[in-house]
Amino acid sequence: MGDGAKAKSILIAGAGPVGLTAALELARRGFVPRIVDDGQGPAPLEESRALGINARTLTLLSAAGVTDHIVAAAQPIAHFRLRSGAKVLANVDTRRLPGRFCAIHGLAQGATERLLIEALADYGISPEWQTAVEPETIADPLKPEVTLRRLDRTTETVRPDILVGADGAHSAVRKALGAGFPGEALEAYFYLADFRYVKPVDAHFAEITLCDPGMLGRLPVSADVLRYISTLEDFESRIVHPEAIVEKTWVSQFRIHFRHVEPMAKGNVFLAGDAAHIHSPAGARGMNLGIEDACWLAWLIAEGREQEYSALRIPAVKQVLKQTYGLTRLVTMRNPLAIAARNLFAPLLLRFGPVRRQLLHSISGYDTPRPPWIDWAE
Ligand SMILES: Cc1cc2nc3c(=O)[nH]c(=O)nc-3n(C[C@H](O)[C@H](O)[C@H](O)COP(=O)(O)OP(=O)(O)OC[C@H]3O[C@@H](n4cnc5c(N)ncnc54)[C@H](O)[C@@H]3O)c2cc1C
Repeated sequence: MGDGAKAKSILIAGAGPVGLTAALELARRGFVPRIVDDGQGPAPLEESRALGINARTLTLLSAAGVTDHIVAAAQPIAHFRLRSGAKVLANVDTRRLPGRFCAIHGLAQGATERLLIEALADYGISPEWQTAVEPETIADPLKPEVTLRRLDRTTETVRPDILVGADGAHSAVRKALGAGFPGEALEAYFYLADFRYVKPVDAHFAEITLCDPGMLGRLPVSADVLRYISTLEDFESRIVHPEAIVEKTWVSQFRIHFRHVEPMAKGNVFLAGDAAHIHSPAGARGMNLGIEDACWLAWLIAEGREQEYSALRIPAVKQVLKQTYGLTRLVTMRNPLAIAARNLFAPLLLRFGPVRRQLLHSISGYDTPRPPWIDWAE
């Protein structure tokens, strides 16, 4: 790559985990991207959407020096349990994976964002907060033009060589491109609540209890905070808390959508992360898949091959949507016969080595194409 390529002006809309990763991966390759976000700062530590960081993401962020900090701050999730009432149907040891990392670590999304911001600061780049990208329409995606609006209502017109839309599920950049976001939403609502306990709890396993119908998941947020997530509105009455509660730190409810944009780019405008695809949190893939998009895009820009981005990413996106759709259907089924069959066969299948390995492989994020610029074993 010549210095001409590095001189390209790059505007990244959105300083969530995906926009920050894109900025960092470009910065470590000599680019000076500008990154803006309409929020006040990174996601609050106590309102964490993403918790799971998979092994592929740890591989990807190694080059930028972020992985060691994530591993130091995160909880390695050593076991994944599937229960039906008090009975343990399956217990998968997530450390039984070749390579440097266990399949998944737990860390609040806000903490991950702060680590990315710190790494980016080493290159002299900081997100410009309270700065919204307001593209009405992008008439010529080969020469994108957008308006930036600050909190004080001042505006600036920017014409970057490359515009990256990492501005989340309601992406203004995607809408300005006139790109659809086809897909479907599940009927059911999901409910979540995070609890802080008086002292540390066992934060090294994740668990799904099948309630038939419905499910209750338990996930570690930190050493003394657990998340419960469920399809049942009255789920809190079903929780067996491991310790006395100090406080409920966050509650939320949401519907799950399975949507993706195709293609993921037009001209010199590229969509990454939730701006390009959204799906169920089952399997903890959303943020991880978006971080992967950002890393691939930065590498392709550095190689002068960014026009290949969409064709290279779409198969990975479709694969993850399909996998998370299957997992979500498995834990939300209502038909008694289907439930009985699942409860009989799932534990048997999970005792079978190749099935366990396949499950671990996809939880790790290793089921998408390997990043070609990483020259060490994952
Ligand atoms: C309950 C739940 C649990 C989840 N658990 C996991 C998990 O365990 N693992 C996982 O990998 N994923 C998980 N996800 C998904 C994950 O949270 C998202 O995939 C991830 O946040 C996407 O990151 P992003 O940077 O693309 O978008 P976002 O995190 O949404 O960031 C977009 C940023 O763009 C900014 N923005 C928006 N519009 C504009 C604009 N016009 N101008 C400027 N800035 C703008 C926003 O302020 C925001 O900071 C979960 C999601 C939910 C709902």
